[in-house]
Amino acid sequence: MQHVLDAIQANANAEVFAKLAIPDSYRGVHVLKSEQEMWQGVATKDKDPRRSLHVGDVPTPAVAPDEVYVAVMASSINFNTVWTSIFEPVSTFGPLARLARESEWAKRHDQPYQVVGSDAAGVVLQVGSAVRNWKPGDRVTVHCNHVDDQDHSAHDDSMMAANQRIWGYETNFGGLAELAIVKANQLMPKPAHLTWEEAAVNALCNSTSYRMLVGRNAARMKQGDVVLIWGATGGIGAYATQYVLNGGGIPICMVSSPDKAEILRRMGVQHIIDRSAAGYQFWNGDEQDETEWRRLGKDIRDLCGEDPDIVFEHPGRSTFGASMYVVKRGGAVVTCAATSGFMMEFDNRFFWMRSKRLIGSHFANYREAWEANRLVSKGMIHPVLSRVFPLDETGEAAYQVHHNAHEGKIGVLALAPSEGLGVTDPALRAKVVDQLNWFRR
Ligand code: NAP
Repeated sequence: MQHVLDAIQANANAEVFAKLAIPDSYRGVHVLKSEQEMWQGVATKDKDPRRSLHVGDVPTPAVAPDEVYVAVMASSINFNTVWTSIFEPVSTFGPLARLARESEWAKRHDQPYQVVGSDAAGVVLQVGSAVRNWKPGDRVTVHCNHVDDQDHSAHDDSMMAANQRIWGYETNFGGLAELAIVKANQLMPKPAHLTWEEAAVNALCNSTSYRMLVGRNAARMKQGDVVLIWGATGGIGAYATQYVLNGGGIPICMVSSPDKAEILRRMGVQHIIDRSAAGYQFWNGDEQDETEWRRLGKDIRDLCGEDPDIVFEHPGRSTFGASMYVVKRGGAVVTCAATSGFMMEFDNRFFWMRSKRLIGSHFANYREAWEANRLVSKGMIHPVLSRVFPLDETGEAAYQVHHNAHEGKIGVLALAPSEGLGVTDPALRAKVVDQLNWFRR
């Protein structure tokens, strides 16, 4: 792929990019169908992504009329790559086989391997015959909402589409690779003031948090709302914290270490709880302990004098009962995940008697992802990149996320030969350089 790098470096025009040869195979991070039973009998925490994520050559598929080839300069680790690598809660080869039944083009996705990864920043190489809005040479970031827009159900909110999938998780040919195959309706302009690795970490987590808190489809936070954010320096939590600060809300940020609390202070957060120091024990064996929910509620009131209007929930089983308890009368718990377990329990009496709401939210539609990307492009929301790994060490990067040994987002260099490349708006960069370093180790 050196010829691609040369063209990017030379700032070549669309005609030059369109003529670049697409290689017959490319390097990608993949899991193997033959290994999907490899973790039988192994505890979740001991399933090691370094053993199941392989880096090697896979054949290049043909591009469909509504798709493009993207030369991937950088990508990022999302928790869904951890799920794929540990084959939990299910192996992702099942969804690939179901996708393959939908059309002739979709058959390509059912392979003995799956190239993973749901984020990418790079350059468009070739475009399919039906692509109108993008051309070779365009610098892009990729969002992961994979939708067949010929289906009527995709035309109100595309997250409601019957065939909605997450690219690089429920599809093949994802972003942790030197080449990616994406639908044209996944493309967004790369923020010009960011490096490739900074541009690559935002789309999945930033768009998810935007929909949960800001967009029309979930909690619809307003000025002055108190928002309890679990994992406030994690992938989605670090963007949620920025949205609450930007939107005139009052974030109550939960983290598990003084280092993470320090990051939040740099971001301008006032109300921080270190859950490790507080030692909450919401579960006592198979039972939940209401007195611990009350203790959390009191800690929040002591900090800001009120109960949360919104709880930004994703740890799942371990925190869900507490979240449903502490949210204000008439308030909303918005959830997009269940990292610690998806069978939730809560005390319904406090839910119905206090007229609370529970809102499920999943990724974001194209419009929401675009708006979230626009805020990054304007320097109003910032990437939360903490570390960068080479593609060959993706397994180690996923291991770090699996064991909560990271902050913010971990970037992965694909074709980019080093960090720090890709900036075309140095003036905007200079204005926000402090914010770009909030999370850097
Ligand atoms: P992450 O970077 O690992 O951050 C999650 C944070 O949650 C951790 O840093 C940790 O922070 C906190 N946490 C973890 N386990 C916890 C527990 N048992 N109790 C309390 N806090 C806990 O992951 P992420 O990228 O933010 O993703 C979080 C979850 O959302 C994952 O399950 C992911 O798959 C899901 N997700 C869903 C969507 C969607 O579209 N539905 C999109 C993005 C992510 P502290 O240790 O500092 O408290």
